[in-house]
Amino acid sequence: MKQFIIVHYGEIGLKKSNTDYFLKKLRKRLKMVLEKRFKRTFSIKHILRRFLIDLPEDFDRDQYIELLEKMFGIKNFKFVKVGSIDLNKLGEQIWRNLPKEEYKSFRVRVKRSMDLPYKSVEAERDLGAVMIDKGLDLPVKMKDAELEIDIEFFNDKAFLSFKKYTGPGGLSPNSQGKLISLISSGIDSPVASYMMMKRGARVVFAHFHSFPYSDTDEMEQVKDLVKILSEYQFDTKLYLIPFGKIQKVIATNLKIPGKVRTVIYRRIMLRIAEAISRKEKANGLVTGDSFGQVASQTPENMFAIHEVSHIPIFQPLIGFDKEDVVEYANKIGTFDISKLPCKDSCTMFMPRIPELRANVHDILEYEKDLPFDEWTATSLKDSEIIIF
Ligand code: ATP
Ligand code: MG
Repeated sequence: MKQFIIVHYGEIGLKKSNTDYFLKKLRKRLKMVLEKRFKRTFSIKHILRRFLIDLPEDFDRDQYIELLEKMFGIKNFKFVKVGSIDLNKLGEQIWRNLPKEEYKSFRVRVKRSMDLPYKSVEAERDLGAVMIDKGLDLPVKMKDAELEIDIEFFNDKAFLSFKKYTGPGGLSPNSQGKLISLISSGIDSPVASYMMMKRGARVVFAHFHSFPYSDTDEMEQVKDLVKILSEYQFDTKLYLIPFGKIQKVIATNLKIPGKVRTVIYRRIMLRIAEAISRKEKANGLVTGDSFGQVASQTPENMFAIHEVSHIPIFQPLIGFDKEDVVEYANKIGTFDISKLPCKDSCTMFMPRIPELRANVHDILEYEKDLPFDEWTATSLKDSEIIIF
């Protein structure tokens, strides 16, 4: 029997006049990912609010699941076989294809997007009766049945499946323009980047490192994190920006009180990230800040830090508890890398007791004679760019 994958999408179907734009982006992404991975062409048709992807005779389900589970915009997907719209014939086809596993309950679920001489509930009842007649010795359970015999009628055919896989949701990849994500080796910023990609942003990564004042562990960790995140978009770019020299100048400047260093480092990172955003034609920055989590994240300090930026700073984790971020990081697969111990660039030149309520006027005074334009230009020139 000919097999297909049916993909259902979520929020992008609610976009009214913009739906076509999002569907085009999702279809393009599906086609590119599948064709690159399996080295063959795929026909992907959009029929009545779902995508229908043709499958080759021989295919490995797990390989497809792995790709589709990482495709933003997808609500769920399933592997389907084509059956008859004649319920007797269809019952026979379902029976022949029933999975061999042991189940405790079953139900038939029918969805109709075409004219048929029977209603969906009637088809569910009839097909359920056929299964019992043929010897399926299981109770029917309308909610949370273990075996769900799923039929969609459209395009003059029945499409049958026995298992539905959940997609990651969100908006179509690359549908919302570019953002520069400030990524550390910590737990938060990789999750924040994921969140913005899920909302359709194309993310370019920027990491500030202290090498040669530190070893390369942190940089390697960041590369591993970006590699995981790069599976959600094409041509992922990571800027590795040397930051140690700048930190050293700040840390040894006697006019700058030790406790405001962190705020000043962050302000410099934002200046450089903004310059990268101009170069990349991006529309904003992303950070993994969470309100009140660490010293740099008090409202006063966040104000003092953000004051320097002329473009929006998106902080998708702002209201998250750490536990929730960890749960996400585990789900994405970044947690095991983020939790590895390493000296991060900020702790290197960090004050022992950080300021909790920085004052912008004081900060501007401390920053008065610092050569920011020169630092920004040198940082861009000396950055290493890695493409994943
Ligand atoms: P994370 O777990 O993402 O490191 P955090 O809770 O440790 O976050 P901070 O260290 O205060 O918080 O950093 C706040 C945000 O600043 C980070 O989420 C990240 O977006 C950015 N950031 C911090 N250090 C760096 C760095 N070395 N390079 C790039 N961005 C950084
Ligand atoms: Mg950190």
